[in-house]
Amino acid sequence: MPAIQPENILALPRVTIDNPLALARPVVKLVKAQTTFEGEGFMVRRPFPGGVSMRDVDPFLLLDQMGGFELEPEEAKGTPWHPHRGFETVTYMLDGQLQHQDTSGGGGMITDGSTQWMTAGSGILHIEQPSEYLLRHGGMMHGVQLWVNLPAEHKMSDPKYQGIEAQSVKLLTSADGGAIIRLIAGDLAGHEGPGSTFTPITYAHITLEPGAKVELPWNPEFNAMVYSLNGSGAVGIEQAPLAESTLAIFGAGDTVVLQADGAQLGAAKKLDVLVLGGKPIGEPVAHYGPFVMNTHAELVQAVEDFQAGRMGVIPPAHV
Ligand code: MN
Repeated sequence: MPAIQPENILALPRVTIDNPLALARPVVKLVKAQTTFEGEGFMVRRPFPGGVSMRDVDPFLLLDQMGGFELEPEEAKGTPWHPHRGFETVTYMLDGQLQHQDTSGGGGMITDGSTQWMTAGSGILHIEQPSEYLLRHGGMMHGVQLWVNLPAEHKMSDPKYQGIEAQSVKLLTSADGGAIIRLIAGDLAGHEGPGSTFTPITYAHITLEPGAKVELPWNPEFNAMVYSLNGSGAVGIEQAPLAESTLAIFGAGDTVVLQADGAQLGAAKKLDVLVLGGKPIGEPVAHYGPFVMNTHAELVQAVEDFQAGRMGVIPPAHV
């Protein structure tokens, strides 16, 4: 079952634009995701980093769409144990099962609409693997990993893990009742998502029926992006065409508008998007592999701390 489905869409709270003078944001850039390989060799579609300025996506660092198609038996792959420091990894599974474990004691199965929110902070080691069932039998696997940067004052905070069950995601609908809005984190039209963040963001997964339209009030202090997971539509005040696996970056304004094309050619027959934005941190970013700090010296320290085992030690059962 893909993500969480409400029993009755029309019973959900509707997100409407009450201010008739609200200005719909224009689209300033459209970027096709790049295909690359991660971990033990699974394919991801990556809208950023890549063809956008990191200033445009601040406070986010990376977005990976994992899978989105049927896997053959023995085809599923994960990542080996690896470290992180200085930011948060947010893994949302629409479909399939990902088994996670980290050295802070966090872990569990991320599946069918649940989210794992890992604040790496001062340092953590983790492993992400497909479930035994998915590995043996194959099947649908579709997930997203988002990296959210931490401001300098929180980069060395204690590692933290939040398991967000699919049922705790805040469900809303559009004015026309043609879309399921799943609010994972932050505020949207006065509703709150379950994810708790250091940096103010709004993060939602929306499924639009063919032809459905969504208008979202959007914090004017936040940047705004829409990424198409599957399907096609139009975005922004100018109704710019949005193809599959494409990121739209919006300019200033009060609302984010999008509409699904009437004919959806993909297997899903619907438009699925992520809508995300946040308050830019505006600090220098120094990045080396799994570490994201503010200065080069802090990266050198991160590598030393990892090599000395100060970010945690792989549990004996895994060595
Ligand atoms: Mn990782």
